[in-house]
Amino acid sequence: MSGICRDRVVVVTGGGQGLGREHALALAAEGARVVVNDLGEAAKAVAEEIGAAGGTAVADLGDVSDWGYAERLIGRAVDEFGALHALVNNAGVNRDRMLVSMTEADWDLVLKVDLKGHAAPLRHAAAYWRERSKQGRPVDARIVNTSSGAGLMGSVGQGNYGAAKAGIAALTVIAAAELARYGVTVNAVAPSARTPMTEAVAAFAEKMRAPESGFDAPHPGNVSPLVVWLASAESGDVTGRVFEAEGGTIGLADGWQHG
Ligand code: ADP
Repeated sequence: MSGICRDRVVVVTGGGQGLGREHALALAAEGARVVVNDLGEAAKAVAEEIGAAGGTAVADLGDVSDWGYAERLIGRAVDEFGALHALVNNAGVNRDRMLVSMTEADWDLVLKVDLKGHAAPLRHAAAYWRERSKQGRPVDARIVNTSSGAGLMGSVGQGNYGAAKAGIAALTVIAAAELARYGVTVNAVAPSARTPMTEAVAAFAEKMRAPESGFDAPHPGNVSPLVVWLASAESGDVTGRVFEAEGGTIGLADGWQHG
């Protein structure tokens, strides 16, 4: 298959729905061989969808915030396809509430899945690339993280999520500095798109759709071309950057109401 990700092996976490699914489909359409991770069966459906379209993908089910599983996920890509060229960290959850009502469980879950769930696959992919680099083998690898406007600008009702996403922005810059020596670039996207996650926040979805706002929440596929480029060999000179892909929705974040 041709395309800017031809023959690249890419792991996409949280690839069963929403943005992750779109990223996986777009990467495969550009020639990547994709390992689609998610917690459940949806990852299998996406891998099958890619296969039906003539692409190459396998599903790997598990929790990316589990350190041991994250290591196995990276190993699966290498076992299955003989290499790893890019990791797209996308898995995430939200538990939106005003800070005064936020529970310890809300904090623990969101920080674990969103922040540690990025750090764990990053760590194991980095170890794989460091090893190859030390062996003198060429490495031209990519990590693409998923931050959020909630982390860069703040978002009422998303204290835990925004803190995790701000952490991902910091992780991106630090990892870029640490991993450049091994031939790895690290960037992040900060998307806003209509997905099951954002649909779940009713007031947000309503505002995004308000005709007078002049905005329509971007389809998640609008973010994927940027992710594909960042995962490709073409973006080799770009590292340590967080790219906002919010479709002109900045300024609509105000006024979210959460109980
Ligand atoms: P987005 O708006 O980012 O697309 P979604 O909720 O639609 O948000 O997608 C996030 C994906 O991440 C879901 O498919 C979800 O099942 C997945 N996910 C959530 N937690 C984990 C986890 N711990 N490990 C792997 N995937 C996860």
